[in-house]
Amino acid sequence: MIYLDHAATAPLPHAVAEEMYMVLREQYGNPSSQYRMGLEMKHRVASWRQTAASALDCPADRLFFTSCGTEGDNWAIRAALWQNRHSGRHIVTTAVEHSAVLECCKWLERDGYEVSYLTPDQQGNITAAQVLEAVRPDTALVTVMLVNNEIGAVYPVEGIAQGLVARNPKTLLHTDAVQGLTTFSARTLGADLISVSAHKIGGPKGIGALYAGPRVKNLRPLLPGGGQESGVRSGTEATAQIAGFAKAAELRMANLEKDQAHLRAIKDYAIQRLSEIPDLQFIHRDGAPHILAVSLPGWPSQNTVNDLSAQDICISAGSACHQGKPSHVIAALKLPKRTAAGVIRLSFGPETSEADIDACAAALRKHRETRLPML
Ligand code: PLP
Repeated sequence: MIYLDHAATAPLPHAVAEEMYMVLREQYGNPSSQYRMGLEMKHRVASWRQTAASALDCPADRLFFTSCGTEGDNWAIRAALWQNRHSGRHIVTTAVEHSAVLECCKWLERDGYEVSYLTPDQQGNITAAQVLEAVRPDTALVTVMLVNNEIGAVYPVEGIAQGLVARNPKTLLHTDAVQGLTTFSARTLGADLISVSAHKIGGPKGIGALYAGPRVKNLRPLLPGGGQESGVRSGTEATAQIAGFAKAAELRMANLEKDQAHLRAIKDYAIQRLSEIPDLQFIHRDGAPHILAVSLPGWPSQNTVNDLSAQDICISAGSACHQGKPSHVIAALKLPKRTAAGVIRLSFGPETSEADIDACAAALRKHRETRLPML
């Protein structure tokens, strides 16, 4: 199998599975229990939190485990609005956020909040100036993702954070950094709230984290209950998942420079090989090194994905979260209809080889030559 869908989820390294298995089998204590096994687990969770925090470059006591990136997004948004409930009910976001942010915003609109959805240019870019211009005296929250999961565009979160100080110092800034974990420092990024998810870096699914910086006062829980996670996120700690998150972060951090250089080289190689396919268009060439969105105008993306799937090559038609429905991200780019309908996403990981790219490029070329365009 050739796996070119790391932005959907990354393969779980053996060492991560081993660590989780050990916790499940031998260290099953509840960190809240008062006997030795519980106390030991409490210490282990503290140490895993430290490791996860080092992947975001943030203090461990500002990082809280969640059940996924989606939870972190929803929690951050609602906590920010609660903190600023007396300053306004306006939210600034983009039309290309992950559904975890967009659907949350849509629910908030039903509750009386006003949301400004900023649209990118045709290449998917959004500028800090564009975001800051939309900020008003009653803007409680700006939420802009760090790396777009469908096209790989990187958004200027640091510039937005710097500009917000003058524009409206009360407005809190959240970023969904699920596709950027290990590539940023919370200290320099400047966002008040940052949500991440382990399964994009080789951790298990069902575990994420939310960073809340010093401007976040009394982080309001999304899930009140038994008071775990310093009282802000209740629910018995998912110890095996947390262990897997920490192990995956440790492995990625140990090889960070090498992996980033490899991803950049692989993306360059993919651009070179795919340029040889007649008519193929690049949707966003720059941006994150692990994501490359292209289009075969006239060849519907789902057919392309199915054809490659039959040859055991895994790529994605836009985002895996849309399950066949047209993607809101591609729609926001306002591309010609045939181009938009033909968008596919290749995404890479440390294991991706040039041979994988060669096989994918050959399969795409053959698809174009042997299947009639349908549009
Ligand atoms: N945000 C982005 C940018 C994502 O790519 C994803 C997952 O695809 C999520 C949020 C949701 O994360 P999770 O699957 O952990 O809920």
